[in-house]
Amino acid sequence: MLRRTVRILAALTMAAAATLVATVTTAAPAQADGCYTWGRTLSEGMSGEDVRQLQIRVAGYPGNNAVLGIDGAFGPATRAAVVRFQQAYGLGADGIAGPQTFTRIYALQDDDCTPVNFSYAEFNDCNSDWSGGAVSAATARFNALVNMWKLQAMRHALGDQQIRVTSAFRSHACNNAVGGSSTSRHLYGDAVDLGASPHSLCRLAQQARNHGWREILGPGYPGHSDHTHVAHKSSRTWSASSCGVS
Ligand SMILES: [Zn+2]
Repeated sequence: MLRRTVRILAALTMAAAATLVATVTTAAPAQADGCYTWGRTLSEGMSGEDVRQLQIRVAGYPGNNAVLGIDGAFGPATRAAVVRFQQAYGLGADGIAGPQTFTRIYALQDDDCTPVNFSYAEFNDCNSDWSGGAVSAATARFNALVNMWKLQAMRHALGDQQIRVTSAFRSHACNNAVGGSSTSRHLYGDAVDLGASPHSLCRLAQQARNHGWREILGPGYPGHSDHTHVAHKSSRTWSASSCGVS
C-alpha cells in the first residue's frame, strides 16, 4: 500500500525562533511504495527489472488460454496484459504503464509485494521457510507470489469476492502426508487448490482459463470433487469435465 510521510519543517524567525514539525500521511504519487517503486513509464520495446516487476503484477491478465512470460522484455503480450489490467480497473487502456497504472498497482499490493487479498502464510501452511520442495525455497516462494497476482486478477473478475486457498506450496514431506502425486506442482509452489464458496468449483475452473494457468483440474477429474486445482506447468492440462473445461 502506498504510504508517504511528509515532514514539514517550518522555521519561524520570530522574537524567539521556533520549529514546527508536522507529520502528514497522504496519498502521494508514484514514490516510496513499501514494496517496489517504478521510476519510469514503461511501454513496448523496453526491458529491465522494472518491466519484470510489472509482468508479475499483470500476470493474471494474459487473455484466454495464455500465459504471460515474466522475462523482463516488454513485448506485445505484455502490452496486451497491461491493456486488460487497465480495462479491468477503468483506467485509460493504452498499454503503457505510467503513473495511473502504477498507482493502481500500489493500491493493490502490500509492503511484502503480495497482493492485498492474498498472503505468503496462506500459500504455505507446510513450513515457514519454503524448503523441502522440488525447487529452491526462493523459487517456490516466487512461484507462489506469481500465483497470488493471478488469483488477485481472477478475484477482481469474479466481483471482488473472496477466493479460498485450501492448499498451495508443499514440501515433499507435506505432499506425502496428504497423499499428493510425486510430480505434483504443489512441490514447485506454483499450484493452488481453491475451495468452493462463495464461488462454485466449476465457476472457479471456468474463470481460471483467463488468468494464466496451464493446469486446471476440477470436478469431473479424479480426486477433484472438493477443490479446483490451478497450476503452472510446461504443457497444457485442463480437465474439469463436469464444468465443461477441457
Ligand atoms: Zn492441487
